Amino acid sequence: MKILVLGGAGYIGSHTVSELVDAGEEVVIADNLETGHIEAVNPKAKFYEGDIRNREFVDSVFENEKIDAVIHFAANSLVGESMTNPLKYYDNNLYGTKVLLESMVAHGVDKIVFSSTAATYGEPESIPIVETDRTEPTNPYGETKLSMEKMMKWTGVAHGLRYVALRYFNACGAHESGEIGEAHSPETHLIPLILQVPNGQRESVSIFGTDYDTKDGTCVRDYIHVTDLAQAHILAVKYLADGGESNVFNLGNGVGFTVKEVIETARKVTGHPIPAVESPRRGGDPAKLIASSEKARKVLGWNPEHASLEEIIASAWKWHKNHPNGYAK
Ligand code: UDP
Repeated sequence: MKILVLGGAGYIGSHTVSELVDAGEEVVIADNLETGHIEAVNPKAKFYEGDIRNREFVDSVFENEKIDAVIHFAANSLVGESMTNPLKYYDNNLYGTKVLLESMVAHGVDKIVFSSTAATYGEPESIPIVETDRTEPTNPYGETKLSMEKMMKWTGVAHGLRYVALRYFNACGAHESGEIGEAHSPETHLIPLILQVPNGQRESVSIFGTDYDTKDGTCVRDYIHVTDLAQAHILAVKYLADGGESNVFNLGNGVGFTVKEVIETARKVTGHPIPAVESPRRGGDPAKLIASSEKARKVLGWNPEHASLEEIIASAWKWHKNHPNGYAK
């Protein structure tokens, strides 16, 4: 199959491209390199630099390449930024997807797998979260992702397009080679920030809130290895290629760790004391987010292989230790 990966130079995109290439698929990447990195573009994939909001650009890719399916990662994904600059999220995530879908319909490309998020649920009604639970996002990031799901649904009704939305919980870890990994600027995610301490880039890590209703008072999250997420995209493309109907799946390990447990595990992995400073809550953080991924296991045959938090952090550490400045020289 020839698969177009939009946002293939980003964190989850580049790991998915790597797994696709290893599985022998033909891969075309399009990325505007706004948050993606040219160094993360897999040399075995064909690369187009451009923006999905540019209809001419998107049309030209579909005209040059006979694409069987699209995997769509090209979006902004920072909760905090979405609160201060919501229209950036409506523009890139929603308008960008609208242009993409128009072009797909015009070119007869009818299968798409895309990144959705646990943020579509907002404050969970129960734990673990299942796909049929209430979706009431508490920030524009989650809201635009939920709207993307709906846009796909109605485009499907009108034009026969089929989609799979993958609602990720906390993506983390890095490729086993240590050559690609997480590189955000500014960095806001817990594990990369923790690892900046043993890397000598910060004195301590902040714990955002110690008075949550959890076993040690800090937030609980479901951390899922990026390579396991990547595998789910490949299974989702196969599912659609085999005629599967449009669908939504949670992707997580079904196990929650507190912020304090994550820091403790990082101390073990790195052998560094990693001082932590108890700080006020961060706005908009639910106390607990844990996925039920039973549906993805059953329907897609997904089976996460890197479930141990120690292994996840060790893989992230291998990347960050050797690339303290991410892809920058
Ligand atoms: N967190 C923290 N200190 C930090 C960054 C994050 O305590 O410096 C907490 C955050 O409040 C959340 C968890 O770590 O409970 C995971 O946050 P992250 O930003 O990595 O992912 P999110 O859950 O927001 O998608």
